[in-house]
This record gives sequence, structure tokens and C-alpha cells, in this order.
Amino acid sequence: MHALKLRAVEMVGNKDFIIQIKGLQIGKHQYDFPICGSFFKDYGNSQILDASLEADVELEKGSGWMNVSAYIEGTVTVECDRCLDDVEIPMDFECSMAVKFSSSVEDDEGDEFIIMDPADSELDLSQFLYDYVCLNLPLQKVHPEGECNREMIERLGNVNGNRAGAEAQVNSPFGALKGLLDKKN
Ligand SMILES: [Zn+2]
Repeated sequence: MHALKLRAVEMVGNKDFIIQIKGLQIGKHQYDFPICGSFFKDYGNSQILDASLEADVELEKGSGWMNVSAYIEGTVTVECDRCLDDVEIPMDFECSMAVKFSSSVEDDEGDEFIIMDPADSELDLSQFLYDYVCLNLPLQKVHPEGECNREMIERLGNVNGNRAGAEAQVNSPFGALKGLLDKKN
């Protein structure tokens, strides 16, 4: 009983992202999955504060294989690297995965295919969607130029002893000039 309960807590998958594949006809099938902030919270992701995404999924079923492609569009809310305010990052990308049905482990061809047991009746897309959203987050998550919280940046600048300003002066030939102008203001 205890073990069962523990497993349920550890299991992240979300039943909202399951496609029933048992009895699914050969050919193409379309699905729409809305992805909201709680999806990322369930994964323990503290970087994505909120999300409003839509995944358009196309599943093509062949005999012994499936191809899943998804078009993901919408926004995720994260903390701005520059001013720490919330910033909405637009997302718009495609991703796909190939599934091969095989009951033998020897058939594992590495990263090219995801191997599923032919007896499996459902395909859970949670991990697939989660991984690709995280993978497609930009490295620098900031507001567009000029839209940051100025007050916050000034406060952060004071706390950090204007380290960013000092670095800019070293890296840019105009740095020294900018430093003078900043002092005037
Ligand atoms: Zn910002």
C-alpha cells in the first residue's frame, strides 16, 4: 500500500496528454492539447511561472510504427533575467518523435526511435511536450529593449555595486564615456 502511494506521487505524467492507441486506425489523426502553468508545476519546474500554450498534434499510425509531430504555439511566463519581473516569452515551434512497436529489447536502435510494446494501449505525450517546451526556451529570457522594470534594475544595480556597469566599461570603447554620462544623470 505504501509503495503504491509513493509511486503515485513520483509519477509525473498527466492523463490529459494521453492518446488511446489501441484500435486506432492506420493513417493520420489530429489532436489538440492545451498546456497551462500547472503542467510545469507538476514537473517541479520553478522557472516556468505560467503558460498558455496550444499543442496541435498529428499522429500518423503505420503498421508497427507511429510518427508523432506537434506544432506548439503560445506563451510561457518566466522571470526576466534583467529586471526579475514576469515576462511572457512567445513560443512557436515544431517537434516530432518516431515510435516503433517491438517487444524485443534487442530492437533498440538508440535515439532514433522510441520503442513501445505492441501491447501498450496508450501513448503519454507529457514528457515529449515538456522536454520540447523546455528545450525551446531562449537562453536569455528578457523583456524587449526598454520594457524592463527600470526601478527594479536600479535597485538591483545598487545591490550589485554596479558590477554590470563596470563590465560594460571594460568591454566597450564607449564604456568610459557612458560612465561619465551616467554620473551626470
Ligand atoms: Zn525585464
